[in-house]
Amino acid sequence: MDKLTEVQLKLQEVGCPLCYNTRLDLVLRCDLGQDECIYTAKCLHCGNIFEVNTRSKTVEELEPALEDKLKTKGCPKCGGHDLQVDFRCDLASQDCFHALTCQTCGHVFVGER
Ligand SMILES: [Zn+2]
Ligand SMILES: [Zn+2]
Repeated sequence: MDKLTEVQLKLQEVGCPLCYNTRLDLVLRCDLGQDECIYTAKCLHCGNIFEVNTRSKTVEELEPALEDKLKTKGCPKCGGHDLQVDFRCDLASQDCFHALTCQTCGHVFVGER
C-alpha cells in the first residue's frame, strides 16, 4: 500500500478533528527540489484545513516521472521552473490530480501524467 492510500484510509477513519465528517479533500503539497511534502486535508463540511501528521515524501518518490517532466516543461505561461505541486485527492471518488502553481507568474495549471 502506498503512502497516499495509507493516509486516505487513516483520514476516513478519524475524519475532521472539528466535526468528525469524513468528506475530505486531501492535498499533498510539495515544492520541487525540497525534501519533504506536507499532507493537508480540507473538510468539505466545515471548511477546516488541517495538517495530516504523517511522514511525508518527496515529489520524486511519489511520481518520479512527473518531476522530470515538470522540470523539462516548466510553466506553460512563462516557462518558469519554480513550481509548487499540490497533489489533490477526493477521498470519496479517489480522483487525484496534480495542481501546479508557478511561483514566478502565479499561473495555476493541472499537471498531466
Ligand atoms: Zn469539519
Ligand atoms: Zn509562470
